[in-house]
Amino acid sequence: MKILYTLLLLISFSTHSKTIIYSSDYIDVNTGKVITNKSITVDKGIIETIDSGFIEITSNDKLIDLRGYTLMPGLMDMHVHFGQEYKSKSERPVKIERETSAILANKHALTTLKSGFTTVRQVGDSGLIAISLRNLINSGEVVGPRIFTSGKSIATTGGHADPTNGKDSDSYEYPVAEDGVINGPYDAYTAVRQRYKDGADGIKLTVTGGVLSVAKSGDNPQFTEEEVIAVVNAAKDYGMWVAVHAHGSEGMKRAVIAGVNSVEHGTFMTEEVMDLMVNKGTYYVPTISAGEFVAEKAKINNYFPEIVRPKAASVGPQIGNTFNKAYKRGVKIAFGTDAGVQPHGTNWKEFVYMVKFGMPPMETIQSATINTAKLLKIDSILGSIEVGKMADIIAIDGNPIENINTMENVVFVMKEGELIDLN
Ligand SMILES: [Zn+2]
Repeated sequence: MKILYTLLLLISFSTHSKTIIYSSDYIDVNTGKVITNKSITVDKGIIETIDSGFIEITSNDKLIDLRGYTLMPGLMDMHVHFGQEYKSKSERPVKIERETSAILANKHALTTLKSGFTTVRQVGDSGLIAISLRNLINSGEVVGPRIFTSGKSIATTGGHADPTNGKDSDSYEYPVAEDGVINGPYDAYTAVRQRYKDGADGIKLTVTGGVLSVAKSGDNPQFTEEEVIAVVNAAKDYGMWVAVHAHGSEGMKRAVIAGVNSVEHGTFMTEEVMDLMVNKGTYYVPTISAGEFVAEKAKINNYFPEIVRPKAASVGPQIGNTFNKAYKRGVKIAFGTDAGVQPHGTNWKEFVYMVKFGMPPMETIQSATINTAKLLKIDSILGSIEVGKMADIIAIDGNPIENINTMENVVFVMKEGELIDLN
């Protein structure tokens, strides 16, 4: 297979030609069915036709024979942090320069693309790293997944994502709305407008405490109703989505009522909040992987600062159960992992956890393709293998509908018709 890809990459620079993919099995995420024995023709990055059987190819065309594999649309992860990968207390450098984060982000983006994720949403950043990376990927100067990003998160003073938490008061200036720390509706408008100016696609809000922030509570509400309504209204003015980090139910409830697009983590989500989300059409982005990861690490002495450890131990194991309840109650689920807490490239594990906590394998794949495309409002151009859509196609060695663990075995990635070198 490796030789075939190299040849194809060489040929693709010489002449314009169509690419024809022979598929024995591909997943139609619209119907939840596996479609057998088709030829998918890709031209200029778009799926031009899908024909029955295996069509004849002309000498000018490229053939990619993926019979024997399971094809599906490029996967999408709605919650990543490319600029970081959490390190234990002992492994962590004393300081991390923003330039270091930017270089790492480039590496993590490529790792993520190679693991089959052709689109991601980065929610939360230490600066303008994801925005810069997104632009370089879009212009073709850097290889990586398509990025939609919020830029720097918006928090309240002392809240999750206040960048000065844990610092001695002599070593920082009070952060302002432009930095993403707001107090009051007026500040909310300033912060959203600054992100619009920065080039963000959406807004990330931390409406409750967080597990990994150096602060006592992981679930208290940290935005007033007025503040979260102001953020949502300001974001709507600029056509931006709003994603909220939330563990506790009161913060979540205020956010859902205000009209945010998605709730991230959702750890202590009550049935009342689930029903509100069903009524409002709010998406739930579970990030079970991060919960499982921090719960496991909380067992290790000195892995986390002592103020973080009890939060990691209590929040972690809860997310899977909440996911199970929310799924059964009919809350819309969009796939997201919080990669950057746990290592990048292990995003596939989320599929395994989702199945473990009660979702059928086909629905987990739909949650990471067509559901995520709908959340990002790009479902007219991405999210399924369909004529007229962009050719984001991956292949799995194995049958994930029978064995979800095979989602690890990505053997082929095409993004907008371009083959990605997986070596
Ligand atoms: Zn996160």
